[in-house]
Amino acid sequence: RTVYVNGQYLPEEEAKVSIFDRGFLFADGVYEVTSVLGGKLVDFGGHAKRLERSLKELDMAAPVDMDELLEIHRQLVEKNGIDEGLIYLQITRGAAADRDFAFPPEDTPPTIVLFTQSKPGLADSPAARTGIKVISIEDQRWGRRDIKTVQLLYPSMGKMMAKAAGADDAWMVEDGFVTEGTSNNAYIIKNGTLITRHLGNEILHGITRAAVLRFAREAQMTVEERPFTIDEAKEADEAFITSASAFVMPVVELDGQTIGAGAPGAVSARLREIYLDEMRKAAV
Ligand code: PLP
Repeated sequence: RTVYVNGQYLPEEEAKVSIFDRGFLFADGVYEVTSVLGGKLVDFGGHAKRLERSLKELDMAAPVDMDELLEIHRQLVEKNGIDEGLIYLQITRGAAADRDFAFPPEDTPPTIVLFTQSKPGLADSPAARTGIKVISIEDQRWGRRDIKTVQLLYPSMGKMMAKAAGADDAWMVEDGFVTEGTSNNAYIIKNGTLITRHLGNEILHGITRAAVLRFAREAQMTVEERPFTIDEAKEADEAFITSASAFVMPVVELDGQTIGAGAPGAVSARLREIYLDEMRKAAV
């Protein structure tokens, strides 16, 4: 696999970053994951815009401009022959001279790394036909979840808690309300109304979420952006998650209790179809 690191395209085994890199020592970095469908990038513009915001919130410099970033994505897709898959991008505050909590001097070059993950069949996932199972766990992450940092230990632990419980993922709960999934936004549907948590510092502002809400409104669905509880979700007609890698993925079980008919609901399935169709058309 050819990867990109700090201006160079290299075989993955030759790519190196410093042990003093602040991404490694402090999780002082941000990332994006963009999906590839038919060899093209899905919603690159949305990801680039969120990346710029994440960098700004952390006073971090962008090592490349967004046109250059698009070109790097395209080069990697081509060099690795990706038809369906993902591109991972990470930017950190770079390698300081030594380990120190204070940020390094402003002229410290940021570290930028990109790699591809080939995933044939990503859009035709069997899980989309059966739906997934989730459990609820307490949300123990930091308070700026709107910034897409590489600080992912708690979500990783959540995923392991889900696996241990025989489920696929976990929905996190704070002050009695669902925030989001470990790596996705969470939704329920009741009497035709689509409900998902409002934007704020408590959740990541999903790029897929923005597109799906737009398509839902265009399809004349009623959308409520507000908090909901696990009890409300258990009584819902349908539930699903969204992310750049899962697209729209139905949820059929929550804490061992079946949601709706226990199979992917018609509205979730329709939203998945619309999302994939429209995003393929708009892919760059
Ligand atoms: N919420 C969290 C915590 C995530 O990690 C992600 C994706 O990685 C999402 C939501 C979904 O965001 P997007 O649709 O931009 O992939």
